[in-house]
Amino acid sequence: MDFDILINNGTVVDGTGEQGYLANVGIKYGKIEAIGELANATAAQEIDASNMVVCPGFIDAHTHCHNNVNDDIMHEDNLVRQGITTVVSGNCGSSGWPFGEHLDKVDRLGMKQNYAMLIGHNTIRRKLLGDEQAQFLDPWQLKDLQKLVVQGMEEGAFGVTAGYMSDYAINDELFAFAQPAAERGGLYASHIRSEGKHLLQAIAEIIELAQDADIRIQISHLKTMNPPNWNKLDAVFGLMEGALDRGLSVRADRYTYCAWAGGSTNALPRVAYQIKQERGSWENLHDPDVEEVIYEELDKMWAERGGPETLLLCSMGEPRPEVENKTPAQLAEQWDCDLLEVGVRLEEMGKISAIGMAMSEDNIKRILAHPLVCVGSDSHQEADKTVFTHPRSYGTFPRMLARYCREEQVVTLPQAVNKMSGMTAEHFGISDRGLLQDGLVADVVVFDPATVQDTATFSEPHQYPKGIPHVIVNGKFAVKDGHTTPENHGHALRK
Ligand SMILES: [Zn+2]
Repeated sequence: MDFDILINNGTVVDGTGEQGYLANVGIKYGKIEAIGELANATAAQEIDASNMVVCPGFIDAHTHCHNNVNDDIMHEDNLVRQGITTVVSGNCGSSGWPFGEHLDKVDRLGMKQNYAMLIGHNTIRRKLLGDEQAQFLDPWQLKDLQKLVVQGMEEGAFGVTAGYMSDYAINDELFAFAQPAAERGGLYASHIRSEGKHLLQAIAEIIELAQDADIRIQISHLKTMNPPNWNKLDAVFGLMEGALDRGLSVRADRYTYCAWAGGSTNALPRVAYQIKQERGSWENLHDPDVEEVIYEELDKMWAERGGPETLLLCSMGEPRPEVENKTPAQLAEQWDCDLLEVGVRLEEMGKISAIGMAMSEDNIKRILAHPLVCVGSDSHQEADKTVFTHPRSYGTFPRMLARYCREEQVVTLPQAVNKMSGMTAEHFGISDRGLLQDGLVADVVVFDPATVQDTATFSEPHQYPKGIPHVIVNGKFAVKDGHTTPENHGHALRK
């Protein structure tokens, strides 16, 4: 036998962004052995890929799968069914730790797809300080923080991740945190300080860090959150392109949906929850000393989001027809009460979640089309098929191919594939994958460009996509003929 697997008659789209071409692909010993006519070649297994695209396995630039590994959720297939053959995990400032042990666990138990990880700033800060989260680290503590980064890098990290929602994470500390990664060729990914009101400052801040620490940067889940900020996208691109012109290496990732979904109602301002907790009851929100503040914060919250029409409610538990698929604005009318009362009633019902229409569809298209943006699902492996989740866990990558490439044509097919493989591999420094080329590891997807389709929705998120019959991970079938195989061929990747 010449090959273990031979993929015949497909259009090879190699992940570089170049046009596809007709060729056969031979896989042997886990590697791409040959691409070409391969006349008379024999193989243990052959697939016919007529009318199909054969491309490198997709790399998901942004996942939270480290939580899965911590929770022993190892073998779910909602990511690999999208064609994802490698996930980048450890994001928004948190990761597994100790780093090496975490990766060893992935190797020991296996996963459906390969697994790369970044070192989480909050994770090692907590490791260092315990629960006493000092606002500033002294010089010795900064050195200790750097030692942990060195340790993680030596144990195989592709870089570091910050998610600095807290005030204490000031730039000096993040610079110290980034430095050992920069020296070892790692990248710096961040959930930036603001995605809405202070978006431009946050972008400027991470670019400054790229320059000062001389490190490649990844802006995680780039968005212009809430309508008053939708017009900032030109300025965001301007900052990123300017950085590129100055020789900095800057990229962003994005999921293919314009709504966020949270595990709570999101219909009350934060201060309302604080007061409820302090005083023990929702009724106390009307105490004369706090009522005014609550209404003020509530008004501010809805104004920032573009009004109470922008939130769609759904039930995480039993069906709740009286609130499902309704907005707080509609409920206020239906119940003849104000928005504070709506928020409180939803809280009292419990198990109500919400989808926020906070992002603009036009901006999503422009973000996904931008040459500095790759695709990241911001999701994880789904273990419990009965709980509410964001459809991006099942549909991010096929939706790029179906909606944004085939239907809306905001990117060409070779561009879409590049944004889901080659671009990501290059920026993250995953050097043995991401392209369909001789000698690289055989992570391969076979999909039908005419029928590939995400089917997960906000009301029924646990749905596999269609039109992706074969996914090969490390030279073996992870999905064959549209069915997940029982083995777990994915392992940890170490830089
Ligand atoms: Zn994040």
